[in-house]
Amino acid sequence: MIDCDLAVIGSGFAGSLRSLVTRRIGLTVTLVERGTHPRFAIGESSSPLANLLVESLADRYGLPRIRPLAKWGTWRRAYPEVACGLKRGFTFYSHEPGRRFAGRPERDNELLVAASPRDEIADTHWYRPDFDHFLVREAEAAGARYLDRTTIERLEGKGRAMSLSANRAGDALTISARLVVDASGPRGFLFRKLGLGEESFDALPATEALYSHFRGVARLGDRPDLAGAEQPPYPVDDAAVHHVFPEGWIWVLRFGNGITSAGVAATANFAGEIGFRDGAPAWDRLLRRLPTVADQFRGAAPILPFVHRPSLSFRVARASGPGWTMLPSAAAFVDPLLSTGFPLTLLGIERLARALEEDWGSRRLAPRLEADGRRTLFEADTAGLLVAALYSTFGDFPAFTALAKLYFAAASYSEAARRLGRPDLAGSFLCGDRPGFGEELERCCRQAVSASPAERRDPAWQKSLIRRAERAIRPIDVAGLSDPERRNWFPVDARDLTSGAAKLESTEAEVRRMLRRTRIEPPSRTRNAAVPPIPG
Ligand SMILES: Cc1cc2nc3c(=O)[nH]c(=O)nc-3n(C[C@H](O)[C@H](O)[C@H](O)COP(=O)(O)OP(=O)(O)OC[C@H]3O[C@@H](n4cnc5c(N)ncnc54)[C@H](O)[C@@H]3O)c2cc1C
Repeated sequence: MIDCDLAVIGSGFAGSLRSLVTRRIGLTVTLVERGTHPRFAIGESSSPLANLLVESLADRYGLPRIRPLAKWGTWRRAYPEVACGLKRGFTFYSHEPGRRFAGRPERDNELLVAASPRDEIADTHWYRPDFDHFLVREAEAAGARYLDRTTIERLEGKGRAMSLSANRAGDALTISARLVVDASGPRGFLFRKLGLGEESFDALPATEALYSHFRGVARLGDRPDLAGAEQPPYPVDDAAVHHVFPEGWIWVLRFGNGITSAGVAATANFAGEIGFRDGAPAWDRLLRRLPTVADQFRGAAPILPFVHRPSLSFRVARASGPGWTMLPSAAAFVDPLLSTGFPLTLLGIERLARALEEDWGSRRLAPRLEADGRRTLFEADTAGLLVAALYSTFGDFPAFTALAKLYFAAASYSEAARRLGRPDLAGSFLCGDRPGFGEELERCCRQAVSASPAERRDPAWQKSLIRRAERAIRPIDVAGLSDPERRNWFPVDARDLTSGAAKLESTEAEVRRMLRRTRIEPPSRTRNAAVPPIPG
């Protein structure tokens, strides 16, 4: 019999981080995992907002051992044994089936958006076997009771507590918890146990995924035919690389241990046509249609069996109820596109932490968790609509680029607003409830998803969508995304932030101070000197 304040179900990064924070608030926690660590997990690419959230959780809840994980340089120095990859930005190439990708002077078939100006403060790809294992050990060290190889058989409300009947390696046990937090991923524990019902995202087509880990994947940047003569804003492979084709997209994420994560997400129609359920042969069939990607994988071999995920997206009807709540990653998942999973989940961890900190033991907690659950679903819906719009424009890259900029504008604005101590300016994820931008974001996406095939082919329609998206981002663009001279290559330039100070309701001096504090403007004598090189 175990008695605790919180039972957290699932020890992925979210469950472990949630448990760590819970301990720092002074509550007791039992972390229940059906499997063991280390183990493979998908979902690897972080983003500036995700890392900023890791950093602020670490600062607020006194987690100095977690803080180094928010940046590539500090991570590599503090924990060289925990593998990660260098992510300087988001790289997109648009492919026409059967044809080799060829860069053009106007760069209208590629998009490079830098997320950081230097390696030292860059984002990372999380090698989840190492990363999740590290976090679960940290949670245990902080006093969380960790039960792996545990199957929960029954869940019932008993007075003011929830009772979980479980089995751990043949031993029966009962966990009594004041609150059950579901961190078990999509279609996970509470969804099944409470029969919560699944809803779909508005306008998002049915999608499927196929993925594995590889060795021997070539770097695109070594190919002058792709890069051209000009120097891109960052090495194109030290990024989340997206190969976009009309029905879907491929991700390529390189880790420092020589392993590369790669996979494809595509419409269910396309997945059926290629036969995703066949695994490796389907991957080969896909690459035969995309010669440049095939070149990149010519010397590569998968090191794990391919995973096929039919029904990629998922959304529950309700994310919180009496005695239970779901982290965003258990309540909804849209698509790997734009790496929205981590920031959404971390925003949920942050909200729950505040609620427990301020309202544990009070009557206010239950209605607050219900409201937070609605916000979780609102944020997932915002991401869902944008991803639906992006899927509808995979075959029309200028329109895709214009819509993707909605994401980058909102993400960079949110990051800057938070760093300036003004998170209220950005509001919810993707500035989805920011007056003006939120509505415009929705209008742009609705225009994209509701167009008929004839409209899509009409250049006037395409122009109107692009103009609308350009107008939408202007008031919050602090990343130079509205500058056509950059021809789809967007470095991090501190001047964009200082000249956008008014949009952030700040002075240039305040923005400068923030840039120095966050090392976006380098202090003298930096430049990655002490960072060990990536092997392989
Ligand atoms: C193909 C794909 C690619 C993705 N790529 C990205 C990306 O690049 N960037 C990004 O931000 N997000 C990405 N995501 C989303 C990302 O995977 C999730 O946001 C993230 O993994 C959530 O972490 P988690 O700890 O909540 O869940 P998980 O990592 O899924 O961990 C859940 C844990 O719960 C355990 N569990 C499950 N059921 C039970 C049970 N009944 N009892 C006990 N334990 C249980 C599991 O064993 C597991 O250890 C991707 C998702 C997919 C599907």
